[in-house]
Amino acid sequence: MSKKKSNLVTKHYMCPICNSTHKIKISKDIINGRTNFPFPYVILHNSIKNNEFKEVLTILYIDKDLQIRSTEIQELRDDNLFSKAQVVGMTQSLMEENSRLREDVEELTKKLNKLKSK
Ligand SMILES: [Zn+2]
Repeated sequence: MSKKKSNLVTKHYMCPICNSTHKIKISKDIINGRTNFPFPYVILHNSIKNNEFKEVLTILYIDKDLQIRSTEIQELRDDNLFSKAQVVGMTQSLMEENSRLREDVEELTKKLNKLKSK
């Protein structure tokens, strides 16, 4: 087992569509630079129920203590307001922004350490 310090926190939320509790890992970095809480965290997951494949859109509202305040969960259907492609696109761009911000933080941390060591 690795003893590497994890930057992830494990959270649980109840999903009425799967009728079960899901586990997700959230990076602690996602609250960095945010001023408005709770903020929405969008995820998509697949559900197979009665041999029926479904995609589930989940929006978790996360507060500054990384607690899930509320959830919005809905099945993606063809008659939804957004198409699947749009939802996946939105989700992806959010994720990309998250990882971009994380990279920025890493970059700044590196620079800071370099300055400190001078
Ligand atoms: Zn589910």
